[in-house]
Amino acid sequence: MLEPFRNEPLSSFSDPKEQQSFEAALRKVESELGKEYAIRIGAERILTDRKLVSINPAVPTQVVGKVAQADKAIAEQAMQTAAAAFQEWRKVPASHRARVLYKTAALLRRRKHEFSAWMVYEAGKSWVEADADTAEAIDFLEFYGREMERLDERQPLVRIAGEDNEWTYLPLGVGIIIPPWNFPLAIMAGMTSAAVVAGNTVVLKPASTTPVIAAKFIELMEQAGLPDGIVSFVPGAGSEVGDALVDHPLTRFISFTGSKEIGLRINERAAKTVPGQRWIKRVVAEMGGKDAIIVDQDADLELAADAITASAFGFSGQKCSACSRAIVHNAVYDEVLKRVVAKAKGIAMGDPRTGVYLGPVIDEKAFHKIKEYIEIGKREGNLVLGGETGSPDDGYFISPTIFADVPPEARISQEEIFGPVLAFTRANTFKEALDIANGTDFGLTGAVISNNREHLEWAREAFHVGNLYLNRKCTGALVGVQPFGGFNMSGTDSKAGGRDYLLLFTQPKVVSERL
Ligand code: GLU
Repeated sequence: MLEPFRNEPLSSFSDPKEQQSFEAALRKVESELGKEYAIRIGAERILTDRKLVSINPAVPTQVVGKVAQADKAIAEQAMQTAAAAFQEWRKVPASHRARVLYKTAALLRRRKHEFSAWMVYEAGKSWVEADADTAEAIDFLEFYGREMERLDERQPLVRIAGEDNEWTYLPLGVGIIIPPWNFPLAIMAGMTSAAVVAGNTVVLKPASTTPVIAAKFIELMEQAGLPDGIVSFVPGAGSEVGDALVDHPLTRFISFTGSKEIGLRINERAAKTVPGQRWIKRVVAEMGGKDAIIVDQDADLELAADAITASAFGFSGQKCSACSRAIVHNAVYDEVLKRVVAKAKGIAMGDPRTGVYLGPVIDEKAFHKIKEYIEIGKREGNLVLGGETGSPDDGYFISPTIFADVPPEARISQEEIFGPVLAFTRANTFKEALDIANGTDFGLTGAVISNNREHLEWAREAFHVGNLYLNRKCTGALVGVQPFGGFNMSGTDSKAGGRDYLLLFTQPKVVSERL
């Protein structure tokens, strides 16, 4: 019998043994930097002249790996391979497909620190963030495997005399997986494994800044017994390869996590029927957030300051769940601001290999974009911390930046920055705080720090986000515990790591036989 699902425990780096073992993993990865990675289609490994050069954002001269870039012709080959492989894979029993996921999880667990170390180099993650990312990848594999086995059981239907009725979940077909770079292992693995365990074949276009960790993961799935052709690994530019895959008539669904702009672009393109297409393409999109933490006047202020600091600056705010707005009751505003500034000042920033809390942002483009928002913020609010950056040549470091007295309609209160930039806004009443919190196009996460039972109950009902947290931070959702995904422009209301997630990659069929 399969063990019930349990979340993978996080590593404790205060234990010297664990610390040494992580350092050893970093050294191992360092010795493997700069290698080339091929496109994978079926049994073929294709190297091209055009390469995506993945670099370490803390040391931009350090090459993590060089990944072959696909073009339209290679994308076409991947689609044909995936379509052919689907005819076999859909017939493979669900329990066998699930076993590939369990086996991948077991292999990943054995090489946990090594995979985390790759993310320290490739994504600039701190040890703790990288460790949580790997643990979450293991969780997705274990969780979706079990979910598929549950869906494979006889589904309950009302019985009537003289007939046998049966409900089964069929896979959809060929899916395009376009994951983000910010959880380059967990979310990529979750999106890919969910589609695959449900019986689909996929073309994975990894994020251009983190293709190496994705290549490593696909190698692992193959070692775990994933047959050729089920996952094609096709790195390339979104405007070229991404569009070609999304537009393809054989594409049945697209599973995307990333920015609102790209998500909407994919949704529009997918809505257009092309010649030879026999279905309506399904889009599962998890997009951005402009997440707020509300602090009520009778809140535990230390708890509030801790929750805001961790949610705003963990992994430099590069989470769609990150807190980018602190909406604080006037009565406690100055005190909360003072405490958050003091805590943020104390955050150590540097090369994440050394084990510091805060590393760089992902790439030069993000560095400049965040800097631009900091300039916008200087016109919209009062800069109380940070705001200065060094040269990008020394790594893409941006220190925690806080603006006070930012109006709710300001651009830095409305637009997703995806960096360590936090806007403080005053509210005169709890109702006003809720209105401000709900006053963006997004609806992903939010938190309320309060000791007022009535207000907490009110927020439960009126704070319109997919993941609401009461008296805790708004990041760090756990698979199976806090299924994750949001409302409005935050996406298609799906819940990764939740009970209904696999249904998005299936179509139910009912067969009725007269007895
Ligand atoms: N699931 C993550 C969290 O709860 C965020 C995922 C994302 O940024 O896309 O913090």
